Amino acid sequence: MQPTPRLDPDKLQHLVDDIVDEVQPLLEQGEVAAYIPELARVNPRQFGIAICTVDGAIITGGAATTPFSIQSISKVFALTLAMHLEGEPLWQRIGREPSGTPFNSLVQLEHENGIPRNPFINAGALVVTDVLLSHGASARQLLLDFVRERSGNSELSYNERVAQSEAECGHRNRALAHFLKSFGNLQHDADSVLDAYFYHCALEMSCTELARCALFLANAGLDPYDQARVTTANQTKYINSLLLTCGTYDAVGDFAYRVGLPGKSGVGGGIVAIMPGHFSICAWAPGLNRNGNSLAATAALDLLTTRTGISIF
Ligand code: GLN
Repeated sequence: MQPTPRLDPDKLQHLVDDIVDEVQPLLEQGEVAAYIPELARVNPRQFGIAICTVDGAIITGGAATTPFSIQSISKVFALTLAMHLEGEPLWQRIGREPSGTPFNSLVQLEHENGIPRNPFINAGALVVTDVLLSHGASARQLLLDFVRERSGNSELSYNERVAQSEAECGHRNRALAHFLKSFGNLQHDADSVLDAYFYHCALEMSCTELARCALFLANAGLDPYDQARVTTANQTKYINSLLLTCGTYDAVGDFAYRVGLPGKSGVGGGIVAIMPGHFSICAWAPGLNRNGNSLAATAALDLLTTRTGISIF
């Protein structure tokens, strides 16, 4: 098999410019995440894209520097921290299989005795958050410090209104947390876990910051900017595998088929994807498909890997 060719940043910039034009009609389609009232107010006619290569190039298009609600993309960074802090025992409390159900489904959790299928559905992320609470007084701060350091932006913060909005309307997440508690799979009280989880989801970052933050996953755990070892090479293998099999919920098969990269979506409309050894990428458009993944961001990633012929396959 031929090694994947390096991407020429100039050619990539042209392709990104084309993609920005081509996805415009899709911004009319899809629905913003209305179940979190504060997200329902976001203008759907926005699109941004950013690519960070392991050689230090940054290629951007559209609203790449506009901050948005990262929502479930935070689950990648929370898992990275939990794997570092807790190690193998984490997997006694969370599975590593795709769920085939919506990200906020309760059904499987009863059948499977309170062990969430994977760390990227909401139930799994609540357990991950519980683990973080066991390792520090403030799980909110742990994640904030992580993304500030890895994105290179020390000003990053939570959007209080989004966190409050979800706290007021997050009945399903409350149900999931209490259900987990009833099975003994939360060590802290449900409200503390939910509070940290809602704040994690309410982090605001731009495409450029998210791609930069996830770059260690494309570089065997080493951040090429400051040479910090974020994870071991094996841990990036684990995290990227989980992204490929579980990162886009019950559309994970379709996403893998079209995009061919491990990726994580959030209901704010962002999707982060990883091309190991080459680059991290984030695309964002608020309109979602019925699985809760951004319609135009998925299409943009599809165009990028299809036109360049570069994917993990
Ligand atoms: N905060 C959202 C929720 O818990 C995150 C879901 C998502 O981004 N898929 O419902």
